[in-house]
Amino acid sequence: MSALFPEAILNAIPAELREVPEKVRALTGIEVVAAPFDEAFIRANPDFARASAVLDIDPRHTSITIRFARDALNARIASHELIHLKRNVLESAPKFFPQAGAEHAQAQTILLLENALEHLFVVPEEIAAHADSEAWWVRECAEAIRGADGHGFTLALHWLFLRQVLTRHEDLAHDCAARLNRAPGFARIAAHLEQQIRKAFPDKAAMQQILLGVLSPAIRERITVARYQIRDGRLHTERLALPD
Ligand SMILES: [Zn+2]
Repeated sequence: MSALFPEAILNAIPAELREVPEKVRALTGIEVVAAPFDEAFIRANPDFARASAVLDIDPRHTSITIRFARDALNARIASHELIHLKRNVLESAPKFFPQAGAEHAQAQTILLLENALEHLFVVPEEIAAHADSEAWWVRECAEAIRGADGHGFTLALHWLFLRQVLTRHEDLAHDCAARLNRAPGFARIAAHLEQQIRKAFPDKAAMQQILLGVLSPAIRERITVARYQIRDGRLHTERLALPD
């Protein structure tokens, strides 16, 4: 297998994560590749134009690609995507997928919700692996909170992230809480999510149910819960039933 990332990056990644692509290949036959964002991909996925990297899993075409912004790639980002890959493929974590009939904006919201839950697992592992990671997420989160002013539900998701992952950063929590208090009803939703998800963690299926419980029907009915599963040496997508 050719090297997924430059050697300097691979050497700065925990050994357990470095081995993830080879494990995926041995179990599914899919060779994980890494490729910089190209124009065709950005045109097809304009929402990723500002992302530093994204994991693109396509079981139907038996391909898994870690796409990254050429000047942004570093060990922290490589670890982050490999943790996503490990949880998605090797651990079959349940995921929210937008249904085929979802409108573009709905599909983006559903992917954002999935990422918000998944980051409660991925980011702490990334922080444990890279000394500079927590400071990066603090800056990222501070900016995201400022950008979400007036968007109550987005602020509630940031609040959840702060209370589960960046628990030592009271100044950020104060800022987020002040903005939540100006978005009527959302401080209550944020507190509900914080309490219930803390109780359910790390049971992702239970966490998904809690999140589904606060979503508008318009979004909820466009979500499929499914997981990637390895069977007979191949990668499949297995739909999971939603409880009534
Ligand atoms: Zn991520």
